[in-house]
Amino acid sequence: MNLRFYNTINRKKEDFHSIDKGKVRMYTCGPTVYDFAHIGNYRTFMFEDLLRRYLEFRGYDVTQAMNLTDVDDNTIRRSRERGISLTELTDEFKAAFHADLKTLNIQPAHQYPEATRYIAEMIEMVQNLEDQGYAYKTEDGSIYFNIAKYDNYGKLAHLNPEEMLSGERVTDDSYEKEGARDFALWKGYKAEDGDVHWESPWGKGRPGWHIECSVMSTELLGEHFDIHCGGVDNIFPHHENEIAQSVCATGKEFVNYWLHSEYLLVDNKKMSKSLNNFYTLRDLLDQGHAADAIRWMLITTHYRQKLNFSVNRLGEAARAVARLKMFHERLENYKVDGPESVDNLVADTHIRFQNAMDNDLNISGGLSAVFDLLHKGHRLMDRDLLSQSGAAKVHQLLKTIDHVLGVLEMDSGSDPTVDEVFIESKIEERNTARANKDFAASDAIRDELADLGIELIDTSDGTKWKLK
Ligand code: AMP
Ligand code: ZN
Repeated sequence: MNLRFYNTINRKKEDFHSIDKGKVRMYTCGPTVYDFAHIGNYRTFMFEDLLRRYLEFRGYDVTQAMNLTDVDDNTIRRSRERGISLTELTDEFKAAFHADLKTLNIQPAHQYPEATRYIAEMIEMVQNLEDQGYAYKTEDGSIYFNIAKYDNYGKLAHLNPEEMLSGERVTDDSYEKEGARDFALWKGYKAEDGDVHWESPWGKGRPGWHIECSVMSTELLGEHFDIHCGGVDNIFPHHENEIAQSVCATGKEFVNYWLHSEYLLVDNKKMSKSLNNFYTLRDLLDQGHAADAIRWMLITTHYRQKLNFSVNRLGEAARAVARLKMFHERLENYKVDGPESVDNLVADTHIRFQNAMDNDLNISGGLSAVFDLLHKGHRLMDRDLLSQSGAAKVHQLLKTIDHVLGVLEMDSGSDPTVDEVFIESKIEERNTARANKDFAASDAIRDELADLGIELIDTSDGTKWKLK
Protein backbone atom coordinates (compact mmCIF):
# COMPACT_ATOMS: atom_id res chain seq x y z
CA MET A 1 0.00 0.00 0.00
CA ASN A 2 1.11 3.57 -0.63
CA LEU A 3 1.57 6.03 2.16
CA ARG A 4 -1.40 8.37 2.11
CA PHE A 5 -2.41 11.44 4.05
CA TYR A 6 -5.57 13.48 4.22
CA ASN A 7 -4.66 16.78 2.64
CA THR A 8 -6.80 19.56 4.09
CA ILE A 9 -6.43 21.74 1.01
CA ASN A 10 -7.95 19.13 -1.31
CA ARG A 11 -10.26 17.57 1.29
CA LYS A 12 -9.17 14.04 0.47
CA LYS A 13 -6.58 11.38 1.12
CA GLU A 14 -3.69 11.55 -1.32
CA ASP A 15 -0.63 9.43 -2.00
CA PHE A 16 2.41 10.96 -0.41
CA HIS A 17 5.35 11.84 -2.63
CA SER A 18 8.14 13.96 -1.23
CA ILE A 19 9.73 16.72 -3.29
CA ASP A 20 13.23 15.29 -2.81
CA LYS A 21 13.42 11.53 -2.96
CA GLY A 22 13.72 9.98 0.48
CA LYS A 23 13.60 13.34 2.25
CA VAL A 24 10.76 15.21 3.91
CA ARG A 25 10.78 18.82 5.00
CA MET A 26 8.01 19.61 7.46
CA TYR A 27 6.98 22.72 9.33
CA THR A 28 4.85 22.51 12.45
CA CYS A 29 3.33 25.59 14.05
CA GLY A 30 4.62 25.72 17.59
CA PRO A 31 3.34 27.24 20.81
CA THR A 32 2.74 30.84 21.66
CA VAL A 33 5.01 31.10 24.66
CA TYR A 34 2.99 33.26 27.07
CA ASP A 35 1.89 30.45 29.41
CA PHE A 36 2.34 26.72 29.94
CA ALA A 37 1.08 24.71 26.98
CA HIS A 38 -1.96 22.59 27.92
CA ILE A 39 -2.42 18.98 26.93
CA GLY A 40 -4.75 20.06 24.11
CA ASN A 41 -1.75 21.79 22.57
CA TYR A 42 0.23 18.63 23.23
CA ARG A 43 -2.31 16.59 21.35
CA THR A 44 -1.34 18.53 18.24
CA PHE A 45 2.39 18.38 18.96
CA MET A 46 2.06 14.67 19.68
CA PHE A 47 0.28 14.08 16.38
CA GLU A 48 3.16 15.85 14.64
CA ASP A 49 5.61 13.68 16.56
CA LEU A 50 3.71 10.57 15.48
CA LEU A 51 3.72 11.74 11.88
CA ARG A 52 7.44 12.45 11.92
CA ARG A 53 8.24 9.16 13.66
CA TYR A 54 6.14 7.26 11.15
CA LEU A 55 7.81 8.96 8.19
CA GLU A 56 11.11 7.88 9.73
CA PHE A 57 9.79 4.34 10.19
CA ARG A 58 9.04 4.41 6.44
CA GLY A 59 12.65 5.33 5.76
CA TYR A 60 12.39 9.08 5.14
CA ASP A 61 15.03 11.45 6.31
CA VAL A 62 12.85 14.11 7.95
CA THR A 63 13.78 17.70 8.69
CA GLN A 64 11.33 19.35 11.05
CA ALA A 65 11.12 23.00 12.03
CA MET A 66 8.78 24.19 14.79
CA ASN A 67 8.47 27.87 15.49
CA LEU A 68 8.06 29.49 18.86
CA THR A 69 5.75 32.50 18.68
CA ASP A 70 7.48 34.87 21.07
CA VAL A 71 5.84 38.08 19.88
CA ASP A 72 2.14 38.49 19.13
CA ASP A 73 -0.98 40.00 20.72
CA ASN A 74 -1.04 37.42 23.55
CA THR A 75 2.61 37.57 24.55
CA ILE A 76 2.63 41.37 24.64
CA ARG A 77 -0.61 41.54 26.64
CA ARG A 78 0.59 38.97 29.20
CA SER A 79 4.02 40.53 29.73
CA ARG A 80 2.36 43.85 30.44
CA GLU A 81 -0.14 42.26 32.83
CA ARG A 82 2.75 40.68 34.71
CA GLY A 83 4.87 43.82 34.59
CA ILE A 84 7.86 41.99 33.07
CA SER A 85 9.68 42.30 29.77
CA LEU A 86 8.55 40.29 26.76
CA THR A 87 11.81 38.33 26.83
CA GLU A 88 11.52 37.52 30.52
CA LEU A 89 8.04 36.15 29.93
CA THR A 90 8.80 34.15 26.82
CA ASP A 91 12.10 32.74 28.16
CA GLU A 92 10.20 31.25 31.07
CA PHE A 93 7.72 29.43 28.84
CA LYS A 94 10.21 28.43 26.18
CA ALA A 95 12.12 26.55 28.88
CA ALA A 96 8.91 24.98 30.21
CA PHE A 97 7.94 23.88 26.71
CA HIS A 98 11.25 22.17 26.03
CA ALA A 99 11.05 20.42 29.41
CA ASP A 100 7.53 19.16 28.59
CA LEU A 101 8.61 17.82 25.20
CA LYS A 102 11.29 15.81 26.91
CA THR A 103 8.88 14.46 29.52
CA LEU A 104 6.46 13.39 26.78
CA ASN A 105 9.25 11.84 24.69
CA ILE A 106 8.42 14.06 21.73
CA GLN A 107 11.42 14.02 19.40
CA PRO A 108 13.03 17.44 19.26
CA ALA A 109 12.56 19.35 16.01
CA HIS A 110 15.76 20.09 14.12
CA GLN A 111 15.11 23.80 14.43
CA TYR A 112 13.05 25.93 16.81
CA PRO A 113 13.03 29.33 15.13
CA GLU A 114 11.91 32.18 17.37
CA ALA A 115 9.93 34.96 15.74
CA THR A 116 11.86 37.82 17.34
CA ARG A 117 15.05 36.61 15.62
CA TYR A 118 13.60 36.92 12.12
CA ILE A 119 12.24 40.48 12.16
CA ALA A 120 14.55 41.70 9.35
CA GLU A 121 13.42 38.83 7.09
CA MET A 122 9.78 39.57 7.93
CA ILE A 123 10.21 43.22 7.00
CA GLU A 124 11.76 42.05 3.73
CA MET A 125 8.77 39.83 2.89
CA VAL A 126 6.27 42.55 3.77
CA GLN A 127 8.21 45.00 1.61
CA ASN A 128 8.21 42.49 -1.23
CA LEU A 129 4.42 42.11 -0.96
CA GLU A 130 3.95 45.85 -0.90
CA ASP A 131 6.26 46.33 -3.91
CA GLN A 132 4.27 43.78 -5.89
CA GLY A 133 0.98 45.51 -5.03
CA TYR A 134 -0.42 42.82 -2.73
CA ALA A 135 -0.29 45.02 0.34
CA TYR A 136 -1.14 48.57 1.30
CA LYS A 137 -0.32 50.96 4.08
CA THR A 138 -2.81 52.53 6.45
CA GLU A 139 -2.63 55.78 8.35
CA ASP A 140 -1.44 54.18 11.59
CA GLY A 141 1.70 52.82 9.89
CA SER A 142 0.36 49.29 9.47
CA ILE A 143 0.58 47.20 6.32
CA TYR A 144 -2.36 45.04 5.29
CA PHE A 145 -2.57 42.18 2.82
CA ASN A 146 -5.24 42.82 0.20
CA ILE A 147 -7.08 39.49 -0.08
CA ALA A 148 -8.84 40.57 -3.28
CA LYS A 149 -5.46 40.48 -5.04
CA TYR A 150 -4.96 36.78 -4.51
CA ASP A 151 -7.39 34.65 -6.49
CA ASN A 152 -6.93 31.49 -4.46
CA TYR A 153 -7.62 33.17 -1.14
CA GLY A 154 -9.96 30.92 0.86
CA LYS A 155 -9.03 27.63 -0.83
CA LEU A 156 -7.62 25.98 2.28
CA ALA A 157 -10.46 27.00 4.60
CA HIS A 158 -13.13 26.63 1.88
CA LEU A 159 -14.40 30.16 2.27
CA ASN A 160 -17.28 31.21 0.12
CA PRO A 161 -16.91 34.56 -1.57
CA GLU A 162 -19.60 36.18 0.59
CA GLU A 163 -17.43 35.45 3.61
CA MET A 164 -14.60 37.54 2.25
CA LEU A 165 -14.85 41.15 3.19
CA SER A 166 -11.98 42.54 1.18
CA GLY A 167 -11.34 46.21 1.73
CA GLU A 168 -12.32 45.80 5.39
CA ARG A 169 -9.51 45.16 7.82
CA VAL A 170 -8.76 43.06 10.84
CA THR A 171 -5.91 43.87 13.18
CA ASP A 172 -6.21 40.97 15.63
CA ASP A 173 -4.07 37.90 14.99
CA SER A 174 -7.07 35.59 15.47
CA TYR A 175 -10.55 36.05 14.01
CA GLU A 176 -13.41 33.95 12.72
CA LYS A 177 -13.93 32.61 9.22
CA GLU A 178 -17.05 34.73 8.82
CA GLY A 179 -14.87 37.79 9.15
CA ALA A 180 -12.28 37.04 6.47
CA ARG A 181 -10.79 40.46 5.74
CA ASP A 182 -7.56 42.11 4.78
CA PHE A 183 -5.17 41.16 7.55
CA ALA A 184 -2.18 42.86 9.13
CA LEU A 185 1.28 41.94 7.87
CA TRP A 186 2.90 44.66 9.92
CA LYS A 187 1.28 46.47 12.83
CA GLY A 188 2.08 50.11 13.41
CA TYR A 189 3.12 50.90 16.98
CA LYS A 190 0.38 51.47 19.56
CA ALA A 191 0.79 52.57 23.17
CA GLU A 192 -0.31 49.13 24.44
CA ASP A 193 2.72 47.55 22.74
CA GLY A 194 4.90 49.19 25.44
CA ASP A 195 8.56 48.73 24.60
CA VAL A 196 7.93 46.00 22.01
CA HIS A 197 8.69 47.54 18.63
CA TRP A 198 11.16 47.47 15.76
CA GLU A 199 12.13 50.05 13.17
CA SER A 200 10.82 49.44 9.67
CA PRO A 201 10.35 51.34 6.39
CA TRP A 202 6.82 52.15 7.65
CA GLY A 203 7.90 53.48 11.03
CA LYS A 204 8.12 51.54 14.28
CA GLY A 205 5.91 48.54 14.77
CA ARG A 206 5.88 44.76 14.94
CA PRO A 207 5.04 41.83 12.67
CA GLY A 208 1.61 40.21 12.45
CA TRP A 209 1.45 36.59 13.58
CA HIS A 210 0.92 35.02 10.16
CA ILE A 211 3.94 36.56 8.46
CA GLU A 212 6.11 35.00 11.16
CA CYS A 213 5.43 31.47 9.97
CA SER A 214 5.66 32.29 6.26
CA VAL A 215 9.11 33.73 6.84
CA MET A 216 10.53 31.19 9.26
CA SER A 217 9.34 28.19 7.25
CA THR A 218 10.82 29.59 4.03
CA GLU A 219 14.09 30.56 5.70
CA LEU A 220 14.62 27.09 7.11
CA LEU A 221 12.93 24.72 4.69
CA GLY A 222 12.95 26.60 1.39
CA GLU A 223 10.15 28.30 -0.53
CA HIS A 224 8.47 25.04 -1.45
CA PHE A 225 8.40 22.18 1.06
CA ASP A 226 6.47 19.00 1.77
CA ILE A 227 4.29 19.15 4.86
CA HIS A 228 2.82 21.86 7.05
CA CYS A 229 0.86 20.94 10.16
CA GLY A 230 -1.08 22.38 13.04
CA GLY A 231 -4.34 22.00 14.89
CA VAL A 232 -7.61 22.52 12.99
CA ASP A 233 -7.93 26.00 14.47
CA ASN A 234 -4.82 26.95 12.52
CA ILE A 235 -6.56 26.36 9.19
CA PHE A 236 -8.21 29.74 9.37
CA PRO A 237 -6.96 32.39 9.49
CA HIS A 238 -3.36 31.40 10.20
CA HIS A 239 -2.58 28.90 7.45
CA GLU A 240 -4.88 30.52 4.90
CA ASN A 241 -2.96 33.74 5.39
CA GLU A 242 0.41 32.00 5.30
CA ILE A 243 -0.43 30.57 1.89
CA ALA A 244 -1.50 33.97 0.56
CA GLN A 245 1.67 35.67 1.82
CA SER A 246 4.10 32.99 0.71
CA VAL A 247 2.65 32.28 -2.72
CA CYS A 248 2.38 35.98 -3.53
CA ALA A 249 5.86 36.74 -2.20
CA THR A 250 7.67 33.97 -4.07
CA GLY A 251 5.38 33.30 -7.04
CA LYS A 252 5.90 29.60 -6.34
CA GLU A 253 3.99 26.77 -4.78
CA PHE A 254 4.34 26.80 -1.01
CA VAL A 255 3.37 23.50 0.65
CA ASN A 256 2.26 20.19 -0.87
CA TYR A 257 0.44 18.58 2.08
CA TRP A 258 -1.52 20.36 4.79
CA LEU A 259 -2.28 18.13 7.78
CA HIS A 260 -4.39 19.23 10.73
CA SER A 261 -5.25 17.46 13.94
CA GLU A 262 -8.56 17.64 15.74
CA TYR A 263 -9.18 19.01 19.19
CA LEU A 264 -8.76 17.53 22.57
CA LEU A 265 -12.07 18.19 24.32
CA VAL A 266 -13.22 18.43 27.90
CA ASP A 267 -16.93 17.65 28.37
CA ASN A 268 -17.30 18.02 24.60
CA LYS A 269 -15.80 21.51 24.51
CA LYS A 270 -12.41 22.42 23.08
CA MET A 271 -9.76 22.42 25.78
CA SER A 272 -8.56 26.00 25.81
CA LYS A 273 -7.14 28.75 27.93
CA SER A 274 -10.11 30.98 27.24
CA LEU A 275 -12.66 28.44 28.54
CA ASN A 276 -10.42 27.74 31.52
CA ASN A 277 -11.07 24.01 31.12
CA PHE A 278 -7.48 23.00 30.56
CA TYR A 279 -4.89 20.78 32.20
CA THR A 280 -1.21 21.39 31.83
CA LEU A 281 1.18 18.47 31.78
CA ARG A 282 2.32 19.49 35.24
CA ASP A 283 -1.27 19.33 36.57
CA LEU A 284 -1.59 15.72 35.44
CA LEU A 285 1.84 14.65 36.66
CA ASP A 286 1.09 16.24 40.04
CA GLN A 287 -2.10 14.21 40.21
CA GLY A 288 0.02 11.06 39.86
CA HIS A 289 -0.56 10.28 36.18
CA ALA A 290 2.43 8.93 34.28
CA ALA A 291 3.81 10.74 31.24
CA ASP A 292 3.78 7.54 29.16
CA ALA A 293 0.04 7.11 29.82
CA ILE A 294 -0.58 10.72 28.78
CA ARG A 295 1.45 10.16 25.63
CA TRP A 296 -0.47 6.98 24.87
CA MET A 297 -3.84 8.61 25.45
CA LEU A 298 -2.98 11.42 23.06
CA ILE A 299 -1.59 9.32 20.21
CA THR A 300 -4.00 6.41 20.16
CA THR A 301 -7.10 8.22 18.93
CA HIS A 302 -6.90 8.99 15.23
CA TYR A 303 -5.65 12.53 14.77
CA ARG A 304 -8.69 13.64 12.73
CA GLN A 305 -11.14 12.55 15.41
CA LYS A 306 -12.05 14.64 18.40
CA LEU A 307 -10.85 13.14 21.66
CA ASN A 308 -12.59 13.71 24.96
CA PHE A 309 -10.15 13.93 27.84
CA SER A 310 -10.97 11.82 30.90
CA VAL A 311 -9.11 10.35 33.83
CA ASN A 312 -10.67 7.00 32.91
CA ARG A 313 -8.95 7.13 29.54
CA LEU A 314 -5.67 7.79 31.28
CA GLY A 315 -6.21 4.63 33.35
CA GLU A 316 -6.84 2.61 30.19
CA ALA A 317 -3.79 4.15 28.58
CA ALA A 318 -1.61 3.28 31.57
CA ARG A 319 -2.71 -0.34 31.36
CA ALA A 320 -2.10 -0.55 27.62
CA VAL A 321 1.43 0.79 28.08
CA ALA A 322 1.99 -1.61 30.96
CA ARG A 323 0.92 -4.55 28.79
CA LEU A 324 3.38 -3.53 26.11
CA LYS A 325 6.21 -3.04 28.58
CA MET A 326 5.57 -6.36 30.30
CA PHE A 327 5.57 -8.18 26.98
CA HIS A 328 8.80 -6.47 26.03
CA GLU A 329 10.37 -7.43 29.35
CA ARG A 330 9.15 -11.00 29.17
CA LEU A 331 10.73 -11.38 25.72
CA GLU A 332 14.00 -10.02 27.05
CA ASN A 333 14.04 -12.50 29.91
CA TYR A 334 12.74 -15.49 27.99
CA LYS A 335 15.21 -18.37 28.26
CA VAL A 336 13.46 -21.40 26.68
CA ASP A 337 14.25 -22.48 23.13
CA GLY A 338 11.01 -23.89 21.77
CA PRO A 339 10.22 -25.12 18.23
CA GLU A 340 8.28 -22.07 16.90
CA SER A 341 10.34 -19.60 14.86
CA VAL A 342 7.33 -17.25 14.24
CA ASP A 343 8.74 -15.81 10.99
CA ASN A 344 5.28 -15.53 9.48
CA LEU A 345 3.77 -13.96 12.55
CA VAL A 346 6.51 -11.32 12.67
CA ALA A 347 6.29 -10.51 8.95
CA ASP A 348 2.54 -10.42 9.10
CA THR A 349 2.47 -8.06 12.09
CA HIS A 350 4.95 -5.72 10.44
CA ILE A 351 2.91 -5.51 7.27
CA ARG A 352 -0.40 -5.12 9.13
CA PHE A 353 1.02 -2.30 11.22
CA GLN A 354 2.46 -0.61 8.15
CA ASN A 355 -0.65 -0.99 6.00
CA ALA A 356 -2.81 0.51 8.72
CA MET A 357 -0.47 3.42 9.41
CA ASP A 358 0.07 4.05 5.70
CA ASN A 359 -3.62 4.81 5.54
CA ASP A 360 -3.46 8.32 7.00
CA LEU A 361 -1.95 7.07 10.28
CA ASN A 362 -4.69 4.63 11.21
CA ILE A 363 -3.32 4.04 14.67
CA SER A 364 -6.04 1.73 15.97
CA GLY A 365 -5.50 -0.61 13.02
CA GLY A 366 -1.76 -0.50 13.71
CA LEU A 367 -2.21 -1.21 17.39
CA SER A 368 -4.57 -4.09 16.84
CA ALA A 369 -1.74 -5.81 14.92
CA VAL A 370 0.62 -5.11 17.83
CA PHE A 371 -1.76 -6.43 20.46
CA ASP A 372 -2.50 -9.56 18.42
CA LEU A 373 1.23 -10.20 18.35
CA LEU A 374 1.40 -9.63 22.09
CA HIS A 375 -1.41 -12.05 22.74
CA LYS A 376 0.02 -14.78 20.52
CA GLY A 377 3.53 -14.23 21.82
CA HIS A 378 2.42 -14.64 25.44
CA ARG A 379 0.54 -17.84 24.70
CA LEU A 380 3.56 -19.30 22.90
CA MET A 381 5.80 -18.42 25.83
CA ASP A 382 3.24 -19.79 28.32
CA ARG A 383 3.66 -23.18 26.64
CA ASP A 384 7.43 -22.95 26.06
CA LEU A 385 6.85 -23.08 22.31
CA LEU A 386 8.63 -19.90 21.24
CA SER A 387 12.21 -20.33 20.01
CA GLN A 388 15.07 -18.07 21.14
CA SER A 389 15.50 -16.67 17.63
CA GLY A 390 11.72 -16.16 17.41
CA ALA A 391 11.72 -14.23 20.69
CA ALA A 392 14.59 -12.09 19.40
CA LYS A 393 12.67 -11.31 16.19
CA VAL A 394 9.48 -10.39 18.04
CA HIS A 395 11.54 -8.25 20.39
CA GLN A 396 13.22 -6.50 17.48
CA LEU A 397 9.90 -5.81 15.76
CA LEU A 398 8.52 -4.36 18.96
CA LYS A 399 11.46 -1.99 19.16
CA THR A 400 11.04 -1.00 15.50
CA ILE A 401 7.37 -0.25 16.08
CA ASP A 402 8.22 1.60 19.25
CA HIS A 403 10.20 4.07 17.17
CA VAL A 404 6.70 5.21 16.17
CA LEU A 405 4.91 4.80 19.50
CA GLY A 406 7.77 6.03 21.68
CA VAL A 407 6.66 4.58 25.02
CA LEU A 408 8.88 1.59 25.84
CA GLU A 409 11.78 3.67 27.13
CA MET A 410 9.60 6.03 29.15
CA ASP A 411 9.39 5.77 32.92
CA SER A 412 5.92 4.81 34.16
CA GLY A 413 6.59 5.90 37.73
CA SER A 414 4.56 3.80 40.16
CA ASP A 415 3.21 0.45 38.98
CA PRO A 416 0.06 1.28 37.03
CA THR A 417 -1.09 -2.31 36.72
CA VAL A 418 -2.17 -2.80 40.29
CA ASP A 419 -5.38 -0.89 39.94
CA GLU A 420 -7.63 -2.82 42.32
CA VAL A 421 -10.86 -1.22 41.15
CA PHE A 422 -10.05 -2.24 37.59
CA ILE A 423 -9.07 -5.80 38.56
CA GLU A 424 -12.19 -6.26 40.69
CA SER A 425 -14.36 -4.97 37.86
CA LYS A 426 -12.74 -7.46 35.49
CA ILE A 427 -13.36 -10.29 37.99
CA GLU A 428 -17.02 -9.23 38.16
CA GLU A 429 -17.21 -9.21 34.38
CA ARG A 430 -15.64 -12.67 34.26
CA ASN A 431 -18.09 -13.98 36.89
CA THR A 432 -20.97 -12.79 34.74
CA ALA A 433 -19.46 -14.39 31.63
CA ARG A 434 -19.00 -17.67 33.49
CA ALA A 435 -22.54 -17.57 34.86
CA ASN A 436 -23.71 -17.17 31.25
CA LYS A 437 -21.45 -20.03 30.19
CA ASP A 438 -19.61 -17.65 27.87
CA PHE A 439 -16.24 -19.30 28.40
CA ALA A 440 -14.57 -17.57 25.47
CA ALA A 441 -15.27 -14.22 27.15
CA SER A 442 -14.18 -15.41 30.57
CA ASP A 443 -10.93 -16.82 29.14
CA ALA A 444 -10.27 -13.57 27.32
CA ILE A 445 -10.53 -11.69 30.62
CA ARG A 446 -8.18 -14.13 32.32
CA ASP A 447 -5.69 -13.61 29.46
CA GLU A 448 -6.03 -9.84 29.57
CA LEU A 449 -5.16 -9.85 33.27
CA ALA A 450 -2.40 -12.41 32.71
CA ASP A 451 -0.82 -10.00 30.20
CA LEU A 452 -0.75 -7.44 32.99
CA GLY A 453 1.05 -9.92 35.26
CA ILE A 454 -2.06 -10.71 37.30
CA GLU A 455 -3.03 -14.26 38.07
CA LEU A 456 -6.59 -15.25 38.99
CA ILE A 457 -7.21 -18.01 41.49
CA ASP A 458 -10.68 -19.50 41.71
CA THR A 459 -11.49 -20.62 45.26
CA SER A 460 -14.66 -21.79 46.98
CA ASP A 461 -14.71 -18.29 48.41
CA GLY A 462 -14.80 -16.62 44.99
CA THR A 463 -12.02 -15.51 42.69
CA LYS A 464 -8.87 -14.02 44.23
CA TRP A 465 -5.96 -12.42 42.41
CA LYS A 466 -2.24 -12.10 42.93
CA LEU A 467 0.72 -10.68 41.05
CA LYS A 468 2.51 -13.39 39.09
P1 AMP B 1 -1.06 28.09 20.49
O1 AMP B 1 -0.01 28.04 21.55
O2 AMP B 1 -2.36 28.64 20.96
O3 AMP B 1 -0.58 28.79 19.24
O4 AMP B 1 -1.40 26.59 20.07
C1 AMP B 1 -0.42 25.67 19.71
C2 AMP B 1 -1.04 24.51 18.94
O5 AMP B 1 -1.99 23.81 19.75
C3 AMP B 1 -1.80 24.93 17.69
O6 AMP B 1 -1.39 24.11 16.62
C4 AMP B 1 -3.25 24.71 18.03
O7 AMP B 1 -3.99 24.36 16.90
C5 AMP B 1 -3.17 23.56 18.99
N1 AMP B 1 -4.33 23.45 19.93
C6 AMP B 1 -4.85 24.41 20.72
N2 AMP B 1 -5.88 23.91 21.47
C7 AMP B 1 -6.02 22.60 21.14
C8 AMP B 1 -6.89 21.54 21.56
N3 AMP B 1 -7.84 21.70 22.49
N4 AMP B 1 -6.71 20.32 21.00
C9 AMP B 1 -5.75 20.11 20.06
N5 AMP B 1 -4.90 21.07 19.63
C10 AMP B 1 -5.01 22.31 20.15
ZN1 ZN C 1 2.32 29.11 12.45
